[in-house]
Amino acid sequence: MLIKTEAFVLKSQKYRESDSLIVLFSRKLGKISAVAKGSRRAKSQMLAGIQPFCHSDFLLYQGRSLYTVNQVEAKQIFYPLREDYQRLMEAAYLVELVDIEINEGQPHPRLYSLFGTGLTLLSRNETELNTLTRAFEVHYTRVCGYAPQTMACVACGIAYSEQWSFSAAQGGILCGNCRHQDPQASHISPTCLKLLRYLGTKPLQDVVRLKIHQKLNDELQQLMRHYLLYHMERHQFRSQKLLQQQGFLPVIKGSEKENTSTTLTETGKSGTVIKTESGENSDEQKE
Ligand SMILES: [Zn+2]
Repeated sequence: MLIKTEAFVLKSQKYRESDSLIVLFSRKLGKISAVAKGSRRAKSQMLAGIQPFCHSDFLLYQGRSLYTVNQVEAKQIFYPLREDYQRLMEAAYLVELVDIEINEGQPHPRLYSLFGTGLTLLSRNETELNTLTRAFEVHYTRVCGYAPQTMACVACGIAYSEQWSFSAAQGGILCGNCRHQDPQASHISPTCLKLLRYLGTKPLQDVVRLKIHQKLNDELQQLMRHYLLYHMERHQFRSQKLLQQQGFLPVIKGSEKENTSTTLTETGKSGTVIKTESGENSDEQKE
C-alpha cells in the first residue's frame, strides 16, 4: 500500500551499505520508521529530504515490518539549525521531547503544528533561543494534556498568596497554606510565575523576541525540566546533558532557590511585557 504524507525527519542513520533508516513524525501516521533505499549513494535524489529536522513530502510503501521511501521532496530544510551548534542542540531537545510523546499509528496534529512552529522560529536569527525553548516547554505540556495549573492553588483553589511553590506531583502551584502537601515542591518567584503564565497564554511567535534575564531563565528551566521529567517518568534528557557538557547550560544544583530579583526586557519593542495576572490558558490558540 502506498501512503502519501508530509513528515518531519526526527532521526536519520546509516542502514546497510547504501541505505538510510529514518524515524519520521508524520502528519497522518504519527511516528514511523522507514528505509530510504540507495539514499547514501552520491547521486541519490532522496538525501536532501531525509536530513534530520527536514519537513518533507513523502510517498511511502508500507511493507510487512517497515515502510520504504518511494519518493521524497523537501519542503523546508531548516538549514540554519545545522550551522550553529547551540541552535542544533536546542533543536535536538525539541526532537527529543516530540519523540518521547508520539506513537506509531497515532497522529498528533497539535504537537505536529507546535513542532513545526518551534523549528521555524529556532531557525530565525532574531529568536531568543532560551525564550523559545522555555515557551515551547510550556506549550508542549499543554498539547500533551498535562499543563501545570498556574492561575490558582491546585489544592485549595485560592488565587492570591504571599508565596507560591511549584509542584510537579500536584500538577501546578501550591499556596503558602498548601505547600506542605508536596515536600518536593520548589519555591517559585513571583516574576517566574508571571513569566510562566505569560508564556502559556501567548503563541510562540509572539514571545520569541523577549529577552529573559539569565537567572529567571535558569529558574523556569529547572522547574519545567523537573516537571517534564516527572510526567515522562524519566531522569534526564540526552540533549540537555550534552548542552550542559558543552557549557551552554548551567548545571543547577538543589531544588530550593532564593527569591531572585529578576528583570525582563524585550528586544526590538518597548513597553511592559509581563503584566498578566489573569487570563486562562487558551486551548484554542494557534501554534
Ligand atoms: Zn492552597
